[in-house]
Amino acid sequence: MEEQENQTVEARPDAKCKIAFVGSECYPFVKTGGLGDVMYALPRALISQNCDVRVFLPKYRCIPEKYREKMVYRGSFMMDLCQDGRSFFVGIMELVIDGVIYDFIENEEFFSWGNPYTDLYADIPKYSYFSKASLAAMNYLEWTPDVVHCHDWQAALVPIYLKTQFAPTPVGRAKSILTIHNLRFQGICGIPHMKYWTNIPGFVFDYPGMKQNADDANMMKGGLAFADCITTVSKTYAGEIQTGFYGERLDDHLRYHSGKLVGIVNGIDVEQWNSETDSLLPANYTAADAIEKKKANKLALQEKLGLEQDENKMVIGLISRLTNQKGLDLVNAIFGNIVDANTQIVVLGTGDHNYENSFRYYEGVHKGSVCAYISYNEALAHQIYAGSDALLVPSLFEPCGLTQLIAMRYGTIPIVRETGGLKDTVQPYNESTNEGNGFTFFDYDAGALFDAVCRTKDVYFKERDRWDEMVVRDMGVDVSWDKSAREYCDLYMKLKG
Ligand code: ADP
Repeated sequence: MEEQENQTVEARPDAKCKIAFVGSECYPFVKTGGLGDVMYALPRALISQNCDVRVFLPKYRCIPEKYREKMVYRGSFMMDLCQDGRSFFVGIMELVIDGVIYDFIENEEFFSWGNPYTDLYADIPKYSYFSKASLAAMNYLEWTPDVVHCHDWQAALVPIYLKTQFAPTPVGRAKSILTIHNLRFQGICGIPHMKYWTNIPGFVFDYPGMKQNADDANMMKGGLAFADCITTVSKTYAGEIQTGFYGERLDDHLRYHSGKLVGIVNGIDVEQWNSETDSLLPANYTAADAIEKKKANKLALQEKLGLEQDENKMVIGLISRLTNQKGLDLVNAIFGNIVDANTQIVVLGTGDHNYENSFRYYEGVHKGSVCAYISYNEALAHQIYAGSDALLVPSLFEPCGLTQLIAMRYGTIPIVRETGGLKDTVQPYNESTNEGNGFTFFDYDAGALFDAVCRTKDVYFKERDRWDEMVVRDMGVDVSWDKSAREYCDLYMKLKG
């Protein structure tokens, strides 16, 4: 993908609305999961809907030099933050790529670490600073958005700041949306710690605002209360988080705010994820030649990862953060039953050491049939999407999930648990009508997953014509942002009034 950097941005006097994105990660600068993809793809999709969009991000040290060196200084100022009245430096460094303006908030004290996330003791001050500095930067740039669209707990203070300290300032006119990409992470710490760093007025800490219990404050909870609108990344997850099982102890809070809660499913950037032009693939393909060319990708993948090279073996991929959210306990329980003389498994991921080690163990036991690539590797991810036959996504919960969308786009059949966005995006294969896009199961149970894998293998090994039809069908599914970007646009217009 050719990026066009630092082009001049034409003023958009006819733009429908002005939207500020505030979030903690964004591809290609820094990405640890799906949030990074959304922060990249949705602004681009909104620009084609004629919205004026600026993305505010921390200027982490881990951002590749090739981007850092092209950033342009837009100004700096000092800002107060915490209760002791200290002043903090805020630098604004700007980069324009493909028409999207990225404003990076610079501060050595907070963003000098390699990775975006460290631990909550460091992250609470860091993201309090970032949320406040982003709003202050909008005022400094004299750019007042109609809507500030905040993402996850790291930006959840923004709706609170907008309605308190920033209310009398220009940006205080903006409405706010808080999108929940993953409710599990909420930004919780002791009330004195939170009060000290945010200097937010005391009333915000009263129930039903930020206060979590007698001792703790919860950024996500406070943000949800103060935001003008809450969205999450699929309709099913929007319903699930209002239940005790999925609600991460905020289900009652979300039921209370359900009148302003909307589910809008994520898409993927179909230029970034395009098997026809993807320069990381050994063999590019379209739906017309996918069946043959995917075999070439499979052979190259097998060779690269030290697996037995055989185009007739089924390759099942798993690309994931290695955490219990991702259903890895189920995978572990039946790993030895899935691998066989005709089936190989490729795992790409990092995370909890117990999962990393168990996958390494299985690689040792099934040499030549299993690869556990314990790392974060963007290029290899592309090659696994292209070279696998099926992709496993058996999540315990999955707000939206992007890997199943990317898999379908690359003609790789998803095997998913029916939860959150997985349920909303993968239509189960129906053998009577020969319709559907993947194999699904409902119960969070290793036997149910095994059953789904067996059904997958049955079609792959015994009904290859039908399998191939599904590969082509999946590549035709609309996984783009078009429809969802229109839904966001409608929401912005409604809020703008
Ligand atoms: P989550 O945000 O919960 O991690 P998603 O399915 O929404 O899960 O998004 C995951 C994104 O991160 C996808 O783009 C996927 O390809 C990518 N990804 C996950 N793990 C890795 C890895 N180890 N190497 C490269 N890409 C990865």
